[in-house]
Amino acid sequence: ATFDTFGLHPSILQAIVATGYTVPTPIQAKAIPVVVAGADVMGAAQTGTGKTAAFTLPILHRLMPLANASASPARHPVRALILTPTRELADQVAENVKRYSKFTPLRAAVVFGGVDIAPQKAELRAGCEVLIATPGRLLDHVEQKTVNLSQVGMLVLDEADRMLDMGFLPDLERIMRLLPEKRQTLLFSATFSNEIRRLGHTFLKQPIEIET
Ligand code: AMP
Repeated sequence: ATFDTFGLHPSILQAIVATGYTVPTPIQAKAIPVVVAGADVMGAAQTGTGKTAAFTLPILHRLMPLANASASPARHPVRALILTPTRELADQVAENVKRYSKFTPLRAAVVFGGVDIAPQKAELRAGCEVLIATPGRLLDHVEQKTVNLSQVGMLVLDEADRMLDMGFLPDLERIMRLLPEKRQTLLFSATFSNEIRRLGHTFLKQPIEIET
């Protein structure tokens, strides 16, 4: 299989070529068509399987019709929110998003705790279609009104099992209440425990289960 079979936007394919990927990994081959089609997904995937590109590439593809070349921050509302348990993962995911969106007008920003909030506010003020965040710091920005989540149409819970282990469930529940009901939600987890299934049942709509 190759990446051209997914019908991804040419500017996304260009970034895949520039990155040097030729063959989709198993999770990418299974997840990309399902996400492109707009379905919710529960994906079982460890790190190292290519799961970041598995959700990032189709998300960027789906955002392309909403991409705007204008520099005005108002033209770059947050459309996709990617939640991660740690700042290291948030940084890694953000790096991936920036690499794959390099040939598009889409913007990405990343916010996580443990660092000064001021530079993050400046980044958010500039506007970003894709926001990568750890749950606690995202809620800090919500409280300080530096982020507006009313236009979020896509949500990713990355390493959901670790987010639960770290006690983020109450934060996740608060964040979920701030998001539009009508959205596509993707949940990735190393394992499908009962707790993860319950989370999926609460936050996802008729999810397609993907395993590798
Ligand atoms: P991840 O599981 O998302 O952390 O990705 C693990 C590593 O695999 C990262 O270094 C990616 O850059 C790399 N990778 C992801 N997809 C592909 C692919 N289709 N071909 C080659 N390498 C890939």
